[in-house]
Amino acid sequence: VAVLAEYGEEAKILAGGQSLVPLMALRVAAPEVIIDINRVRSLDSLGSERGRIRIGALTRHRAVEQLAGLADDCPMIADAVGLIGHVAIRNRGTVVGSLAHSDPAAEWPALALALDAEITAVGPAGTRRIAAESFFETYLTNTLADDEFATHVDLVLPQGRVGSSFVELARRHGDFAIAGVGALIRLSDAGTVEEARIAVIGGGSTALRAPKAEGLMVGHAPSADLFDEVAQAVHDSVNPQGDIQGSAEYRRAITRVVARRAVAKASKRANGEGGKSNG
Ligand SMILES: Cc1cc2nc3c(=O)[nH]c(=O)nc-3n(C[C@H](O)[C@H](O)[C@H](O)COP(=O)(O)OP(=O)(O)OC[C@H]3O[C@@H](n4cnc5c(N)ncnc54)[C@H](O)[C@@H]3O)c2cc1C
Repeated sequence: VAVLAEYGEEAKILAGGQSLVPLMALRVAAPEVIIDINRVRSLDSLGSERGRIRIGALTRHRAVEQLAGLADDCPMIADAVGLIGHVAIRNRGTVVGSLAHSDPAAEWPALALALDAEITAVGPAGTRRIAAESFFETYLTNTLADDEFATHVDLVLPQGRVGSSFVELARRHGDFAIAGVGALIRLSDAGTVEEARIAVIGGGSTALRAPKAEGLMVGHAPSADLFDEVAQAVHDSVNPQGDIQGSAEYRRAITRVVARRAVAKASKRANGEGGKSNG
């Protein structure tokens, strides 16, 4: 914190280096000072209790992937984390580094939005907690100040008759997704949707929630027609940029496809079918 305060925007934290080092190699980033946090062992922490999972700033994607019981406690995370790059990337890259990098095509920002995450930041003025919904500002930009660093993130694991999933499409395994959707559905005893959360990657300048689509589900029993309607609403709520991997309209179309798959899978899991459910 002291070094960050001294150098401000000239300094960069180095966590796993899986985003910062490529950016430096491409000369997109050229920090004067690099603060390597890798020997601060207390930041390498991972634990879940009372329906929350806390992930420290040095916890690698791979550690979360290998967390016992994850597929039962939160299948959305289990589905998503194995889609991040390759094992070599996941062995080095950190969860908090991914949030701090704030790439709209990355999986963790969407998980953070869907699971009501809070990011804890420390700076010269002390510690503050930032809700995921007010953390991501735009492409590779967030509300951390230049002299703050994120020590850990807490994600909420919803309880009850809940099913969740994460579905994406990438050109090759390990590539960043063209589009991806995380869905979480909580059912009432009567089998209607009590709560729905839908988070999208690749749909704009940040990961985003799709509140209109979520609202369409509440009070209704899951059905093929409802999934179609919800997927269309997710499609209508995104504003992707076209690039070398596909036009904006192609990305939107893929968003609809993965959104439908994600809500259908989450509903099945909430009903105790089609894989792990945390209900
Ligand atoms: C080939 C390849 C494929 C990849 N595929 C994917 C993919 O499919 N999905 C995906 O999500 N990611 C992917 N990644 C990126 C990977 O997940 C990174 O690990 C992650 O984005 C950043 O984590 P890191 O620990 O490596 O951060 P670093 O590269 O060390 O840092 C990234 C940025 O965050 C800042 N930072 C890091 N930690 C903190 C902190 N605690 N507080 C404040 N600022 C901090 C750094 O200063 C830097 O600006 C890929 C990377 C590669 C090289």
